[in-house]
Amino acid sequence: MIYLDNAATTKVSEEVFEVMKPYFCEQYANPSAIYSFAGKSMKAVNEAREQAAKLIGAASNEIYFTAGGSESDNWVIKTVCETYKNKGKHIITTKIEHHAILHTCQYMEKQGFEVTYLDVDEMGIVKMDDLKAAIRPDTILITIMAANNEIGTIQPLKEIGALAKEHKVLFHTDAVQAYGHIPMNVDEMNIDFLSASGHKLHAPKGIGLMYIRKGIKVGSYIHGGAQERSRRAGTLNTPGIVGFGEAIRIAGERMQENMAKEIELRDYLINRVLTEIPYSRLNGDPVKRLPGNAHFCFQFIEGESMLIMLDQKGICASSGSACTSGSLDPSHVLLAIGLPHEIAHGSLRLTMSEETTKEDIDTTVDELKVIIERLRAMSPLYEDFIKKQKN
Ligand SMILES: *Cc1c(COP(=O)(O)O)cnc(C)c1O
Repeated sequence: MIYLDNAATTKVSEEVFEVMKPYFCEQYANPSAIYSFAGKSMKAVNEAREQAAKLIGAASNEIYFTAGGSESDNWVIKTVCETYKNKGKHIITTKIEHHAILHTCQYMEKQGFEVTYLDVDEMGIVKMDDLKAAIRPDTILITIMAANNEIGTIQPLKEIGALAKEHKVLFHTDAVQAYGHIPMNVDEMNIDFLSASGHKLHAPKGIGLMYIRKGIKVGSYIHGGAQERSRRAGTLNTPGIVGFGEAIRIAGERMQENMAKEIELRDYLINRVLTEIPYSRLNGDPVKRLPGNAHFCFQFIEGESMLIMLDQKGICASSGSACTSGSLDPSHVLLAIGLPHEIAHGSLRLTMSEETTKEDIDTTVDELKVIIERLRAMSPLYEDFIKKQKN
């Protein structure tokens, strides 16, 4: 099997699994308890919190563990709206956000809030002039993702953060794809809230975090016990947190090395596809993109058939949009960068990890060439196109 869907989820690394193990059957105490048996668990949780903070230049008491990226995204939008509704009821986001952001914004619209969904340019990057023009006296939150989960484009966070600060608007970034993969610093980028998730970083599913800048008033989303400084109730997911902490430590330590390796492979893959497969295009910015992300569209191809045929060859890939199964709507991200429906339908996302090899890439491209040729041979549209070319 060749796994090229690391933007959907990653393998829990052996190192991470090892450090988690004792927290199931041996060190199982509720970390909030008084006895020293529990103290060990709390100590491990706090060490993970320190790793999580250090990676983005934050303080450990600004990190709150959650059950994942979706929860963190919901938390910030819903509670900022609730806390600041007397100041204003306007939110700014983009058309290319993850559904955890988009659907939460739509929910807030039903509650009487107003949302501006910014367009992006053809590379998928927010236009700073548009953002500036969208800010109003009643704007309470700007939420713009750090890097896109489909096309991998990285946003100009520093510029966005500076603009938000200048206008005294809170700035949240969904950094689920970026955290631990590319350098980020909450002070340099003026980030007030940041969402991240474990399972995109070789930690388990169901653990995530939120960074909340010290001094910022915001309500809690999960009510109950006093965990996480009373801001996020619920017994701490000790094994998950410990595993996430280790994954973060490793990601920080190896970031430069992993980035260099993945960028080299990514550019090799992109180059092979664009030169060897006719009527193909790269989506997203060639340079301002996640190290492990390659995203293509192939004309005259139906994306789902391509994925099924890749699967038959043992290659796990994705069309990029979360709702591939069942839905025939093309991705909102591809439409936002201006692709027509018929081209957006033939999309393929290949996302690597530091374990991906050149051999994996070569096999994938070789198989892909055959698959695309075969699918086009069955396509009446392609046949028409070729006939017209000849005339
Ligand atoms: C995966 C992802 C999420 C959701 O995170 P979960 O931990 O799966 O809830 C949110 N935003 C982006 C950009 C993602 O890639």
